[in-house]
Amino acid sequence: MVASGAELGWLTSPVEHGWEIGQRAVNGSLLYNYYICNVEEREQDNWLRTTFIQRHPTASRVFVELRFVVRDCNSFNADSLICKETFNLYASEADADIGTAFRKGLFRKVATIAPDEISSLGEMKMNIETKVVDNLSRKGFYLAFQDIGACVAIYSVRVYYKTCPATVKSLAEFPETVAGGENQALREVAGSCVSNAVSEDQPRIYCTTDGEWVVPVSQCQCRPGFEAMNDACQECQSGFFKSSVSSEACKPCPKNTQPSGHGATSCTCKDGFYRATEDPKTAVCSGLPSAPQSLVATTAQMSIGRLQLSWRPPADTGGRSDITYTVVCERCEGRACQPCGEKVRLDPSNTDLKETRVTVSELEPLLNYTFTVEARSGVSQFSNKRATSSINTALHYTGRLTAMHLVDSSSTSLSLQWSVSHRSKPVATRYELMYRKKEIANGKVTTYTVLVLEKNLVQISDLSPSTVYLFKVQALSPEGNPGSYSLEQEFSTLPQGEQSENVSVILGAAIGGGVMLFIVVVVLLLRKRRRNSHTRQGPEDAYFSSPDQLKPLKTYVDPHTYEDPNTAVLKFASEIHPSHITKQKVIGAGEFGEVYRGILKAPSRKETAVAIKTLKPGYTEKQRQDFLSEASIMGQFSHQNIIRLEGVVTKFKHAMIVTEYMENGALDKYLKDHDGDMSSFQLVGMLRGIAAGMKYLLDMSYVHRDLAARNILVNSNLECKVSDFGLSRVLEDDPEGTYTTSGGKIPIRWTAPEAIAYRKFTSASDVWSFGIVMWEVMAFGERPYWDMSNHEVMKAINEAFRLPAPMDCPSAVYQLMLQCWLQDRSKRPRFGDIVSILDKLLKSPDSLKAIADFDPRVSIRLPSTSGSDGSPFRSVAEWLESIKMNQYSENFSIAGIVSMEQVLQMKSEDIRNIGVRLPGHLKRIAYSILGLKDQTSTLSVFAV
Ligand code: AMP
Repeated sequence: MVASGAELGWLTSPVEHGWEIGQRAVNGSLLYNYYICNVEEREQDNWLRTTFIQRHPTASRVFVELRFVVRDCNSFNADSLICKETFNLYASEADADIGTAFRKGLFRKVATIAPDEISSLGEMKMNIETKVVDNLSRKGFYLAFQDIGACVAIYSVRVYYKTCPATVKSLAEFPETVAGGENQALREVAGSCVSNAVSEDQPRIYCTTDGEWVVPVSQCQCRPGFEAMNDACQECQSGFFKSSVSSEACKPCPKNTQPSGHGATSCTCKDGFYRATEDPKTAVCSGLPSAPQSLVATTAQMSIGRLQLSWRPPADTGGRSDITYTVVCERCEGRACQPCGEKVRLDPSNTDLKETRVTVSELEPLLNYTFTVEARSGVSQFSNKRATSSINTALHYTGRLTAMHLVDSSSTSLSLQWSVSHRSKPVATRYELMYRKKEIANGKVTTYTVLVLEKNLVQISDLSPSTVYLFKVQALSPEGNPGSYSLEQEFSTLPQGEQSENVSVILGAAIGGGVMLFIVVVVLLLRKRRRNSHTRQGPEDAYFSSPDQLKPLKTYVDPHTYEDPNTAVLKFASEIHPSHITKQKVIGAGEFGEVYRGILKAPSRKETAVAIKTLKPGYTEKQRQDFLSEASIMGQFSHQNIIRLEGVVTKFKHAMIVTEYMENGALDKYLKDHDGDMSSFQLVGMLRGIAAGMKYLLDMSYVHRDLAARNILVNSNLECKVSDFGLSRVLEDDPEGTYTTSGGKIPIRWTAPEAIAYRKFTSASDVWSFGIVMWEVMAFGERPYWDMSNHEVMKAINEAFRLPAPMDCPSAVYQLMLQCWLQDRSKRPRFGDIVSILDKLLKSPDSLKAIADFDPRVSIRLPSTSGSDGSPFRSVAEWLESIKMNQYSENFSIAGIVSMEQVLQMKSEDIRNIGVRLPGHLKRIAYSILGLKDQTSTLSVFAV
């Protein structure tokens, strides 16, 4: 800057009579100036040149600020053409000080300087003008003021250039920068990140000609351990960390870490906590998982050297989701254990299992295996601790069966033998032998007869001569788990009268060898039955009660033959994929869960309406097996009057049993809802269907034990089908089930006396129950023995009383009921007889016309035979209302029956005559009148 206030040594030209140095007192201080006032002389050309001004190397534009005073030409008596009021500013560049060598020609004009205000005589109006000298490029320059005849005094000349000041923007520092000139209006300036900040690209900014910063471009971010604060990067406080170059703030240390110091880039895990290699440094630290829970070995297929291990995830996952399992198999003989090695297969793998189960196969028989399941997570590698659960399984492997061979045969018997190929010493095993006639008689379904044997030998008697039989044998482990079946083999009996030659030899040899040849199933089954208290017994004359009574074909197989009922269910029921089932509506509640109506749409089959029985959540394995046992039983049946099993869902969490859908639901409810609406013919038709279903069950040697109208289902064609085959059902499910002194739960009103007394459940006891169902049907769902107690019922039955005929019941039908209720079970009709009797009745409907005597007095009082307070009814209308028959009020009044006294005189015909036609309504009104007549009457029943 060049300022006034001292002798400057500026050059004047001409040296004389040109610009002069002057002095003037302004506001009390003496100021120097350069002045000139040659206003009266023509052609003035007076120059005042500054000394050499060094240029800042980057300042191409300088500003020249002048303070000056110009005297008004009018204040002189001068020629206005000669006197001027402006002067000119010139500049000349040079690379070096040229001293006094002054040449006008080197100067270029910068501007004409005109005052804003001119001063009269004695005045001093200071003007300030700033002019720009642009495009400077040489080392320095001179300024020059040319006077052309003005009266002017220059008080100060300030020469300066502009800079953008040093600054920090977005964590980038930019140096002070000289503003550019005309040729570089925006000067790009490179900066650098503040300390502890970094950036991939160099920060940039622009400096305007006015010395202002614009458009900063900075990607500077604080380094790990630092966060931005007040244009600087500052260390993270203790307890906080920052792991990366980012613009984020420091974060508190995550869970399970030690508190950090200042400037932490990460927080170290507490002892016992780790981060997996792939975990980011910012992640929480996790502990080791705990051991897998509830490790079990399912041995359903142990007999073929296979088992399934399953477990639940660890209770504590250490907060990680990358839990995998490793299964180690060890083979133990005595105390010595060694790795199973390659021999044993683990599916899908033995390591890195994501699922909580594994199938182990190719196990050797008779060895103890120890399976250790370890739960691992991404942090397990950092610790030597192991989270394991172990299980020991002794594998009673039943070995593979060799082919059967014929030991002996006759026209009515076959003796067979087989052996087991054990890889090591044999185990005590039982066998399940199945056989059937090869020929399928009359296209009927042929069912296997099943025998459970203790030896690998059997003699089967009572066979038909010259007949080919098919045999299959299966080894059962001591726990009763079935192995795979042998191939089916054929053996024939000899023609009538022939005898095998080698019988004595073989039998002799066999017995001599101390082997018992034909142990048939009796002993075993009895033992088994005792164990499973609710295993069904066959009928009294069950085929297996003695070897010579073996009565094959069409025999139901008790799913309890299989220790693992899952095997049974797979054998007798087809598996349905749950996606083929659509549940629509809850229609009932079974013992195990809700029953739904729904749709089954299996691939390439048309849609079928189905009932879906579900197993409620939280079931135990035992409940699941009991639930599915119903399907194992139902699946063996195929009859028009037995509820048809469509299939089961067992392979998914929510087990289901899918059966045909019966639109009209349970029979007892259906009848109550249609009280009096159906003819005897229709009712007998229904009974015929039930009887046919029961005959089929008898043929299959199946005893139902809970035959009752509530267990019969009705479809839209009013066809009745027997249902409810669960194994535990009689004991648990049926609300009618009552505990007897023997401990069992029995539906007393439906059960034959011998079954109540000593659990003698046979087809004959089912016939008794059928008699009760007949009564329920003919009485439109009335409760048998009304509100008598179970005790009263048993007492009455023992005293030979029986239920009376329902109202309007055909005599022949009632007679049949009474036959079903004969005390001597051998005298009761069999289901085959019942079907033919009912068929006959249906063929000649006239036979239904004779109605059994109906004595309403045997019925107990209806609940509402008097007003609710026990007082007599005051009007006919009140009485009808109480028995919900007020639709007949008008009939009574038209007939002139207006008082209760008149009502009490009425007989059945009178009621009919006034227009009550529906049998159910007739019955209700008649019962009520009788009840009113004899408020104290109790039940008396017919003796037979
Ligand atoms: P359950 O567990 O067999 O006693 O069934 C309970 C209830 O569900 C029955 O009383 C019926 O009302 C209903 N139900 C069961 N199976 C069927 C079916 N196949 N069709 C229609 N309703 C059924």
